Amino acid sequence: MSADRVESPLALTRRARRMYRTLHGQYPYAHCELDFDNPLQLLVATVLSAQTTDVTVNRVTPALFSRWPTAADLASADRSEMEEVLRPTGFFRAKTNSVLKLGAALVEDHDGQVPPRLKDLVKLPGVGRKTANVVLGNAFGIPGITVDTHFGRLSRRMGWTDEEDPVKVEHAVGGLIPRKEWTMLSHVVIFHGRRTCHARRPACGACPVARWCPSYGVGETDPEAAAALLKYELAPGAEAKRV
Ligand code: SF4
Repeated sequence: MSADRVESPLALTRRARRMYRTLHGQYPYAHCELDFDNPLQLLVATVLSAQTTDVTVNRVTPALFSRWPTAADLASADRSEMEEVLRPTGFFRAKTNSVLKLGAALVEDHDGQVPPRLKDLVKLPGVGRKTANVVLGNAFGIPGITVDTHFGRLSRRMGWTDEEDPVKVEHAVGGLIPRKEWTMLSHVVIFHGRRTCHARRPACGACPVARWCPSYGVGETDPEAAAALLKYELAPGAEAKRV
């Protein structure tokens, strides 16, 4: 796409869908990287993932959920005991507070169950649209777009929207990509942000959607230097991790 030409809504939709299909081809295995067995576990894990990595959250949640498996257990947990379990995730006092309150609200308002509706989820303490959409999409199979820091940055770089506000990004991108794809769209864009289109040094020279990206060149364009910037299973020598 030429940056100095105004793109029609139809051309934007076509380009966005092409980019999504290509990213899906690049990351067919993209998925929610938080471990969970039920909606409650995913809801709590997503709340804990603020300001830390999914890997760190996955390290503490087995102990958390085996000690306090239900919303009622979480609501009545001993605060200092839970703080010790959550300590590795950072901000552990605030996170313990959030989990205790979340458990109490689920017991009080939803019989201890996680409600499968956006409007109910966002009323829970510490739960915003991002968390709600993660839970809807991955625990209930209800399509949702998760606008985290990666999704917002990439949507703007790829020229899908100029919006900064996450809710506006969600609606703008939701209008470009069919609803049934929204959950997978969130996964592949977030995977791309973590592996290739980094905040500081995007690997433009190794990017499969570079030909459609108006921001091509904001990062490293030399193919070899760009390939060296790729992370996780795309990092040089890590191909075996692609499953
Ligand atoms: S070309 Fe560069 S800026 Fe555009 S999506 Fe790829 S890595 Fe990101």
